[in-house]
Amino acid sequence: MQHALSFDVEEYFQVANLAGNFPREGWDSVPSRLDIGMGAILAALERHGAQATFFFLGWIAERHPNWVVRCLDAGHEVASHGYDHRFLWELGPGGFEADLARTERALSAAGAPAPLGFRASTFTLTKRSWWAFDTLVARGYRYDSSVHPVRHPVYGVPGFEPGVSTVQAPGGAGELVEFPVSTVPFFGRNWPVGGGGYFRLLPLSLTRAALARIESLGRPVALYMHPWEFDPAQPRCPAGASARLRHYLNLERTLPRLEALLAQHEFTTYHKVLREVGVL
Ligand SMILES: [Zn+2]
Repeated sequence: MQHALSFDVEEYFQVANLAGNFPREGWDSVPSRLDIGMGAILAALERHGAQATFFFLGWIAERHPNWVVRCLDAGHEVASHGYDHRFLWELGPGGFEADLARTERALSAAGAPAPLGFRASTFTLTKRSWWAFDTLVARGYRYDSSVHPVRHPVYGVPGFEPGVSTVQAPGGAGELVEFPVSTVPFFGRNWPVGGGGYFRLLPLSLTRAALARIESLGRPVALYMHPWEFDPAQPRCPAGASARLRHYLNLERTLPRLEALLAQHEFTTYHKVLREVGVL
């Protein structure tokens, strides 16, 4: 079975966890470390003959179009992560539409075809921003990977279908395929296993067992990672204990763990997995 692998292409200083240190107006004066993570990721994918979907921030595509080109040249999928990492409920419907359009222009200027997929900043497609499905359908998107079926203080839709499903846009624009990052049910709740801090925190054996469980249900797995997770030497910033734990824990493990999974499972783009499942 083929599984979906994805990367949210953003700088370490654009992560919501560290926002207090890096106001948007100062981003252009922070030295980029994108090459370190993107170089490691593309080399690992090439070593294992794997493909992935790269959800680019429009802000990144404007400043680093070379990485859009390199992803496309290597056969990967380029999709949208929005322009500059704002929460959907802060943008509102009109702001979201403008944010998508600006990102599409940046991707197109870098040579990418119109994106079919979207992932919101920080999984902020929740019941509070469900209108986003109408905006996405109206702009021609075919799938989304922004709903996280977990309980979390900021994001999450706890009872949401954890596999591939179809969502009817609430305003009647049509339907969109939803493919959330992977979770496994445990003690009556869905737990994230598809990436982020959990992927670096849990023992690899537990991640493997979780992935085997999802596969045994006949479901494709969806993993997500970020270039900054492949950059253990990134500068340390002051933040709360929990934010520091989530951002910095076990960064040196991301690459070997990804390679262990690439050696054992077949990973490809969201687009290919969703076509295989028969929903695109
Ligand atoms: Zn992000």
